[in-house]
Amino acid sequence: MEQPVIFNRIPVLDLGKEVEELKPQILSALTEVLDKGAFIMGENVTRFEEEAASYLGVRHAVALNSGTDALVLALLAVGVGPGDEVIVPPFTFFATAEAVSQVGATPVFADVNAHDFNINIASIEEHISARTKAIIPVHLFGQPADLDDLRRLADAHQLLIIEDTAQAFGAEYKGQKVSGLGDIGTLSFFPSKNLGTYGDGGMLVTNRADYADKVRKLRAHGSTKKYFNEMVGYNSRLDEMQAAILRVKLPYVTGWNEARRRVADVYQQQLKGISGLLLPQENKDTMHVYHQFTLRVQEGRRDELKTALDQKGISTVIYYPLPVHKLPVYAHLNLVLPVSEQLSSEVLSLPMGPYLDNEVQEYVCESIIEALR
Ligand SMILES: *Cc1c(COP(=O)(O)O)cnc(C)c1O
Repeated sequence: MEQPVIFNRIPVLDLGKEVEELKPQILSALTEVLDKGAFIMGENVTRFEEEAASYLGVRHAVALNSGTDALVLALLAVGVGPGDEVIVPPFTFFATAEAVSQVGATPVFADVNAHDFNINIASIEEHISARTKAIIPVHLFGQPADLDDLRRLADAHQLLIIEDTAQAFGAEYKGQKVSGLGDIGTLSFFPSKNLGTYGDGGMLVTNRADYADKVRKLRAHGSTKKYFNEMVGYNSRLDEMQAAILRVKLPYVTGWNEARRRVADVYQQQLKGISGLLLPQENKDTMHVYHQFTLRVQEGRRDELKTALDQKGISTVIYYPLPVHKLPVYAHLNLVLPVSEQLSSEVLSLPMGPYLDNEVQEYVCESIIEALR
């Protein structure tokens, strides 16, 4: 099939249509911020915290500058530091482990499941030691991890659960939104996330008032009252402009997640039964929000498929080409985590997003089928 002439290169995520649709509302929200002249910790930040907490069904939300700082401040809030170990998956974005190292603790890598890319319970159990303080499950690609099993294990060993929900805003586990189901949840509003802003942003959510209070202080130089610093903190605030944008976008996220699920359904139907291709499965009792639609391409054909699609103008991404324990910064640990390593050699994320055009998607599917023939 020829590439239809209406197409430029097909990106993995196209924010253009969303920007076009929301531009009038966003410009008016930003104009209001300019007119008010309050750029840091203004009304939009407070209101966005309330609106996000209500959406996620969690008591406290603290807006921050990034998902990475949300992880760092979460660890500080629960008192994790030097000498402590935190169990993380190696098949994730670097920040999950980086935050643990950043606070002086040791990231301990537990392998993941091949079927849902999420942290494996048995592997966590093998890696628990007397120094383990917390587990950071990542709801990878928008698929919730098995929080009931995690809770049972965490309770048995008195460990905390920090849900890295950067990729799963709005996803559900047993009918409840993830992020508020562990002890702390962290969110990222990086532009490409399911709820993204047009810059950096993040959030920490929790049902514990003491954690929320501490993070409110940590994000603003250890103070909630100006020039009355009670501890050494950070500058990790979400700015008013980003909060204003996020308030415009929040009411759309449910519809966008539904649209992502429809796109995923089309991929499932069109790509089923192709030999050498494993499609993502949705776990029982969860609502996956398809931050990515990630295939496993077997028989060593992943790179060949990626190149073939590239030549047809279709962008794809490998999340993640190296598991975190194999990145230069942790490679000296010489760890072997076979499932994560295998997934890194097989995965390929396809164009995905709430505005992905049907015709474009059909072209992607036909191109995949043709390339693997
Ligand atoms: C994006 C992401 C982060 C980091 O969020 P930033 O807002 O970019 O700092 C952390 N963990 C995971 C799993 C992510 O995908």
